[in-house]
Amino acid sequence: MNKLSPRTVSIFGATGSVGTSTLELIRLDRDKYHIVALTANSNAEELAKLAKEFNAEVAVIADVSQYDALKALLADTNVEVAAGPDQLVEAAALGADWTMAAIVGCAGLPPTLAALKCGKTVALANKEALVSAGALMMAQARDAGATLLPVDSEHNAIFQCLQGGRIDQVRKITLTASGGPFRTWSKEQMASVTPEQAVAHPNWDMGAKISVDSATMMNKGLELIEAHHLFPVGLENIDILVHPQSVIHSMVEYHDCSTLAQLGSPDMRIPIASALAWPERMKTDCLPLDLAKIGKLDFEAPDYDRFPAIKLARGAIEAGGAVPAILNAANEIAVAAFLAGDVQFLEITEIVSRIIDGYSPPEPNDLADIFGIDKEARERTITMIEDVKV
Ligand code: NDP
Repeated sequence: MNKLSPRTVSIFGATGSVGTSTLELIRLDRDKYHIVALTANSNAEELAKLAKEFNAEVAVIADVSQYDALKALLADTNVEVAAGPDQLVEAAALGADWTMAAIVGCAGLPPTLAALKCGKTVALANKEALVSAGALMMAQARDAGATLLPVDSEHNAIFQCLQGGRIDQVRKITLTASGGPFRTWSKEQMASVTPEQAVAHPNWDMGAKISVDSATMMNKGLELIEAHHLFPVGLENIDILVHPQSVIHSMVEYHDCSTLAQLGSPDMRIPIASALAWPERMKTDCLPLDLAKIGKLDFEAPDYDRFPAIKLARGAIEAGGAVPAILNAANEIAVAAFLAGDVQFLEITEIVSRIIDGYSPPEPNDLADIFGIDKEARERTITMIEDVKV
């Protein structure tokens, strides 16, 4: 990067929780960045507002039915307007110096791959893309010489802890988990959980899908798969530890039994800032950690009986092939159905498990195979949910 010229930045999923946190950080030092692309799914109003404020070169809305609305809202500006999934890929291929991949779900996979192909820096929040197509994404990053910076707080913590050693010196990685809003609830209590209760995370303010994933602990399962791809230490060397305060974001233990941990307030702007400034550090207005005030940190083993999603995800990565993509697709549909009031909370993981058991396609070789598997798994899940409803 030329230090004198602004860094070019694109944000995929700009209207979401991670996207707006990223833009908040950019506001702190506005002149340092030139915004190439901002994208959303259907929220044309918010996208137009952000594109105007940040003087984006292009604003892309995935939902083509919102094109006219976005075009009208940006009529008096120089912002180029585009719509549709292919246009997301085109915007990613513009190759900003730094791209934030913060679309939720597997829909983020094509633009993330296109951004990686440019060989620049991609900050990855969109864990579902890595879960569905981990091998393909890592190969794309390697082949293009791209830098992939993990933004998920746990993976960002591990990435930071690995600055203190090498991956081949690692004995164990510990992913911490808050345990979500139902950490202490019995299965009977969880049976009648409402969407409002499930999205009310005790520590983190996040989008609806990841909040439900945190409540079922499928989020930790997805993160296990994510960690397996990002940090090749062997699945058996990645542990999960429940830590309700979300202060330690993850740990790396080296062969000499020295453990490095990364700590911070539970605020996504902290890992995002680390990725935005990397390899430098930027000043933020985030809350500094006050350990004296927190007093004590608690830890416990995960309860796999009440939260079977973690084991399901571990099994999916052990099985390999198409299974992680099936797990992800079924989970996306089941979570959306729960949020729509069509299935019960405990049924989410049950549905995912049944879809995995009943669908065994051949191993995917390319992106087309992955999308075929993703589509079929979604259709099967929708059919199963229709049956559950009646
Ligand atoms: P949000 O639901 O808050 O935002 C999602 C963003 O993606 C929005 O901009 C949305 O647009 C856009 N979007 C949704 N569906 C599509 C689609 N089909 N095509 C194109 N764009 C789409 O999600 P979060 O910000 O919470 O999460 C984003 C990603 O980051 C997820 O993968 C999540 O797991 C991960 N993550 C999030 C964390 C958090 O704290 N929120 C922490 C760690 C990881 P619109 O506004 O128009 O709907």
